[in-house]
Amino acid sequence: MKVLVVNCGSSSIKYQLVNMLDESVLAKGLVERIGLEGAVLTHQPEGKNKVIINADITNHSIGIKLVIEALTAAEHGVIDSMKEIAAVGHRVVHGGEKFADSVLITPAVMTVLEECIEMAPLHNPPNIMGINACAEIMPGIPQVAVFDTAFHQTMPKYAFLYALPYEAYEKYGIRRYGFHGTSHKYVSQQAAELMGEHVTNLRIITCHLGNGASIAAIKHGKCIDTSMGFTPLEGLVMGTRSGGIDPAIIPFLMKKENMTTDQVDNYLNKKSGVLGVSGVSSDFRDIEDAANSGNERSELALEMFAYRVRKFIGSYVAAMGGVDAIVFTAGLGENSISMRDKISNGLEYLGTRIDPDKNNVRGKAQEISVEGAKVKIFVIPTNEELVIARDTRAICSNLA
Ligand code: ADP
Repeated sequence: MKVLVVNCGSSSIKYQLVNMLDESVLAKGLVERIGLEGAVLTHQPEGKNKVIINADITNHSIGIKLVIEALTAAEHGVIDSMKEIAAVGHRVVHGGEKFADSVLITPAVMTVLEECIEMAPLHNPPNIMGINACAEIMPGIPQVAVFDTAFHQTMPKYAFLYALPYEAYEKYGIRRYGFHGTSHKYVSQQAAELMGEHVTNLRIITCHLGNGASIAAIKHGKCIDTSMGFTPLEGLVMGTRSGGIDPAIIPFLMKKENMTTDQVDNYLNKKSGVLGVSGVSSDFRDIEDAANSGNERSELALEMFAYRVRKFIGSYVAAMGGVDAIVFTAGLGENSISMRDKISNGLEYLGTRIDPDKNNVRGKAQEISVEGAKVKIFVIPTNEELVIARDTRAICSNLA
């Protein structure tokens, strides 16, 4: 069985074709600049040369059509016909409270996804466009939605509710949802496997540290708390997002700077985080370089980032009554040796410490804590596409 995994952004389509027999990736690629000048498809078939196709890609349907053509092409294709694709799995950012698991897409599911647009105005519309494009180009092939929010639906009410008037929750669904769920789920399961334990016996803190960053407390296989909230703005300091701030800052700034709601939204989502503090970049590689050359605000931004992660780790240890493993994943978590070191410096009270030799690793799953540490620390590359492919297979193999 072959599953096509699709992740649609407003002007992009990321895809992977996965052979579920051995979970190997047959091809992957990216359509960029949809609806813009210079639209391009970069297609990487396994074991063959990368192909770059420039075309007029005015919408997602044309993008999906080109992806199918690339997958089935005589020279750089990996399948003979579209019929070999048994199912399509879509990453969908917001599933609201309705979806605690992945689902087969039906007209009723589409209606709920439309309702969730209000809560994820940047993310859900392109996800929906991608689903519609696949339905049009691949009629009859089942499609599955895999939600960023689903894994966090196990949080208890006292953890997911904000202390606002209760009507805010009832009327508008204002609550903590959490994001990066597929990643937190995957790396927690991988950590359990590396420990030779079942995830239901463990308390794990997973740190997904990329441009967007979130952390989750996973007790006995279930998420009980996570740092992102109603939107992906809350919690950790991020590349360009502020993370948690005193909400009173918002009306204060709006008055002082005469900002509209859109402007303040942009300020917190696009201009803040390590970019805002350092004034250098949102990319941690640039900030680490600047800090190494003596740029003080870059050093401060890195310190602030690490301190916030360390504080969350402490609070999640308290929330779970202990911890057995801490996992670092995503761009920064998988690759930044110095950031992992900074964050872990001060966790000795938990009975753990990073081994500098073992920490000298990038993008590879391994334990990095010292021999005999009470709490194991791991680097585990995330693989959200694989989770989407597995969920899609599980749902679609029940269809026949
Ligand atoms: P997202 O999916 O949220 O866009 P990623 O998980 O791809 O983000 O992570 C991107 C971030 O990872 C970038 O900000 C980059 O700075 C950081 N990163 C990637 N490689 C390294 C590295 N070698 N050292 C430090 N940071 C890195």
